[in-house]
Amino acid sequence: MNVVLFGPPGVGKGTQGVRLTKDYQLTLLATGDLLRSEVKSGTSLGMKAKAFMDAGGLVPDDVVVGMIESRLVDQGGLLLDGFPRNTAQAEALDRMLASHGQQLDRVVFLCAEQDVLVERLCGRRVCRGCGRGFHLQYDSPKVSDVCDHCGGELYQRDDDHAEVISQRLAVYEEQTAPLASYYEGRTGFYRIDGSASLEQVHAELVRALEG
Ligand code: AMP
Repeated sequence: MNVVLFGPPGVGKGTQGVRLTKDYQLTLLATGDLLRSEVKSGTSLGMKAKAFMDAGGLVPDDVVVGMIESRLVDQGGLLLDGFPRNTAQAEALDRMLASHGQQLDRVVFLCAEQDVLVERLCGRRVCRGCGRGFHLQYDSPKVSDVCDHCGGELYQRDDDHAEVISQRLAVYEEQTAPLASYYEGRTGFYRIDGSASLEQVHAELVRALEG
């Protein structure tokens, strides 16, 4: 099964995506994580992407499409988080899957109001070691700034600061939100309220994947 999870920044795609990949033995392809790892390793791709990411914009399509294409080969079922992010990427994904004799089986649109997203993004902290996400208010670590799972240091992503958040949300509205119309009407398209609790959203996602 190939699944796309899309929606605004902060809606919970990452958290829910990790859980679903375990439940359904899918391979997670999260373009934001892949790009951050390229930046951290100082690769030429990472150096190309960094300025766009720091400014809250989208990394050019050829860079991200190439990154996904090189990982499509020989994967079992996929869960794509953060890709596609505009219509050109969605068309490229359809083409790439078709060239491997595959298709998208589920497309899930997780949505939430802007005030919920801003609150979630501002309070988000991420472990430098294992990458797990926390929230200062809703999912706080037992010891301040320390990961409960691996003891790593928690940090705030550069693009989770207020000025960059508003730019990311504007880019989402302009470029990514139109994907709802691109996918609406396809078999396997679901819209889920991402502002509900983690457990409720997970239950809805399971219903969508089983549906
Ligand atoms: P995320 O972790 O999904 O919030 O992504 C962090 C940043 O990575 C985004 O703000 C973009 O700059 C970049 N990025 C992630 N996925 C894509 C994509 N599919 N297309 C372009 N840029 C992306």
